[in-house]
Amino acid sequence: MAERAEPTELTRMTATGIAGLVAAGEVSAVEVARAHLDRIAATDQRVHAFLQVDTEGATAAAAAVDAARAAGAPLSPLAGVPVAVKDVFATRGLPTTCGSKILEGWRPPYDATTVARLRAAGLVVLGKTNMDEFAMGSSTEYSAYGPTRNPWDLARIPGGSGGGSSASLAAFQAPLAIGSDTGGSIRQPGAVTGTVGVKPTYGGTSRYGLVAFSSSLDTPGPCARTVADAAALHAVIAGHDPGDSTSIPQPVPDVVAAAARGATGDLAGVRLGLVRELAGEGAEPGVMAAFREAVDALTKLGAEVVEVSCPHFGYALPAYYLIAPSECSSNLARFDGVRYGLRTGDDGTRALEEVMSLTREAGFGPEVKRRIMLGTYALSSGYYDAYYGQAQKVRTLIARDFTAAFAQADALISPTTPFVAFRFGERTADPYQMYLADLYTIPANLAGTPAISVPCGLSGGMPVGLQVMAPAMADDRMYRVAAALESVLPAPAPPQL
Ligand code: GLN
Repeated sequence: MAERAEPTELTRMTATGIAGLVAAGEVSAVEVARAHLDRIAATDQRVHAFLQVDTEGATAAAAAVDAARAAGAPLSPLAGVPVAVKDVFATRGLPTTCGSKILEGWRPPYDATTVARLRAAGLVVLGKTNMDEFAMGSSTEYSAYGPTRNPWDLARIPGGSGGGSSASLAAFQAPLAIGSDTGGSIRQPGAVTGTVGVKPTYGGTSRYGLVAFSSSLDTPGPCARTVADAAALHAVIAGHDPGDSTSIPQPVPDVVAAAARGATGDLAGVRLGLVRELAGEGAEPGVMAAFREAVDALTKLGAEVVEVSCPHFGYALPAYYLIAPSECSSNLARFDGVRYGLRTGDDGTRALEEVMSLTREAGFGPEVKRRIMLGTYALSSGYYDAYYGQAQKVRTLIARDFTAAFAQADALISPTTPFVAFRFGERTADPYQMYLADLYTIPANLAGTPAISVPCGLSGGMPVGLQVMAPAMADDRMYRVAAALESVLPAPAPPQL
């Protein structure tokens, strides 16, 4: 096992801080990349945030930034900053597994739009981070490559599905990371690792090259240690993409300016709606205590906090667990042993259908199989209206609840998760116990509205997150509120690894 290692000054810095040093020529992008690669080497045997570290690619990308600077070329705001990418995004030439055996060894021939935009902006992709298989789960325990451990307590989960991305931030292996949020997979890992996680407006970031789980919900988004860094990364990846049919052809709100405004600590005139249905029910007392303190802090900053009711939010979880599995059962039909990755039992004697069946049996893990079966059932003729159709109606009611709540408040707040990071194995026996991790995050996915999780203190020594939800295409509002909270409640640093 590697030696215990203190994070260096460079690995402790914010992304914008690093970019400033690189732009000023005070440090080279290659040195920055090396510092983070060294940190990964020193800590990842314990954390296991990465499935793939691209030392060569990262070094080359960093060298290109240094060369551009030396040639006097203009640098984009995050040039030279390392970033970790969840393994659900296609990366050209670099293995992309989605945490699944069925994609082992697959090297995509193209970059996802999100990844292409990172590269074009001079960010340095360090590698691919661990996740629950095909982004289904809340703990990374469903990764086919073994779980990621929470840097705060290695006996606990880092959240999921994007636990690797958030853990890499908390372990100072990367200052920025990319995740995907279908039901909470950016915000929940952010909350339980004491980092920031953002689900942008659905359609605000491109799904092109994001391996599909539930296409009407999947949303790429930024992960960072500070709100300003998340905003800077948001600005790089967001914006219209003709390669995604649901991408919004409108300008992205100025999230960087909103975060800067929030950081001044002034929330005068801002009305926040505390969602009654998302505060209290099923939440640990320690989580509620930290949340209430944060609400007091927001009030002291000048915000007016009113209670709002979203009566249909109680049906969000069951609706999600019909819609998401339904879409996944269709999306995952493409993994058939013919087009990608694994192929099992093709000994020349078997019929194609049998090879497909053997491949899927060997390649998919238990949670993915459960979802495919559930979704296939919910979509089958005779049940379609009763399950999938009904869930879509609930979805409309939830969207209407949001509209009504946003008529009373500029943004909505709740705890991000009902409980802090749990111990490995605590919630794998009963799928419902795992699904409860996303009780508060799922409504925003069903409505397509943006939401952010920002650290708001500790419960029993483990991080708690506060969620700020905003109307669609008003992502800037949630950044302002989150940055204001951060200015008076800085994220606590995780204990040394
Ligand atoms: N935990 C939720 C699920 O298992 C959400 C996953 C996600 O957002 N990708 O479906």
